[in-house]
Amino acid sequence: EYVIIGGEIVDRGHATVDIEDRGYQFGDGVYEVIRVYNGKMFTAREHLIRLQESAEKISIQIPYQPTELEEMLKGLIDKNNLSNGIIYMQFTRGESPRNHAFPHNVAPTFVAYTRKVDRPVSSMQEGVKAIFIDDIRWLRCDIKSLNLLGNLLAKQKAVEAGCFEAIQHRGDIVTEGSSSNVAIVKNGTVITHPANNLILNGITRQKVKQVCEQNKIPFEEKEFTIEDVLHADEVFLSGTTVEVTPIVEVEEKKISGGTPGQVTKKLQQLIMDEIVKECGT
Ligand code: PLP
Repeated sequence: EYVIIGGEIVDRGHATVDIEDRGYQFGDGVYEVIRVYNGKMFTAREHLIRLQESAEKISIQIPYQPTELEEMLKGLIDKNNLSNGIIYMQFTRGESPRNHAFPHNVAPTFVAYTRKVDRPVSSMQEGVKAIFIDDIRWLRCDIKSLNLLGNLLAKQKAVEAGCFEAIQHRGDIVTEGSSSNVAIVKNGTVITHPANNLILNGITRQKVKQVCEQNKIPFEEKEFTIEDVLHADEVFLSGTTVEVTPIVEVEEKKISGGTPGQVTKKLQQLIMDEIVKECGT
């Protein structure tokens, strides 16, 4: 397996990062995960723009243009012969003697690697269970930062409860999953949290919005509550790795009779059409 480090493609065994890299010590960096279908990246441009935006929000300067980065990532996918899986990339603020304050004149550390991952076919077909959990994270969840402890603790709680995902909420308002966005369907309308500082504006969420608009499925970005989830006609997750995954049970209460709903299934198909358009079959 090959990886990218320092702008070069090298053997994974030869890639090293210093113990005083700020990503390692402080989580001082940003990342992206892009899905690869049929050897091609899906929505690469959107992910790379978001990466740029996340970096800007914490004053990390990425030394590549999005198109340049895209070419490097394509090179790695080809080199690793990846057909279906993910490509992960991160930029940290770089290596510097430990100090909370930003260092001067330090180059960001860039790392990228690929991993073969199957599509989550069975959970997409059958749906998954979720729990509710207090959203204890900071107030800049719009930044795709390496600081994921809040998300990790939420996911672990879900796993310990025998569930797939944790639906986070601030007060009564549902924000998002631990590594996905959450939407409900009520009377035919898809409702999801507005894209503000309290959630990551998922690329899949944006794709869902786009296909809803193109197919005259009502789509609203507005706050909804825990109660709304429990009384929703359908609930689903969206994300790069989960695509559109139905939630069929929350806190042991069945949603839409415990089976994936019609709107959710339609959205799965519409997203699949987008994947085929961009990546072929
Ligand atoms: N929210 C969080 C906290 C995430 O980590 C992710 C990443 O998968 C998402 C939402 C979904 O974003 P995307 O659709 O861009 O993968």
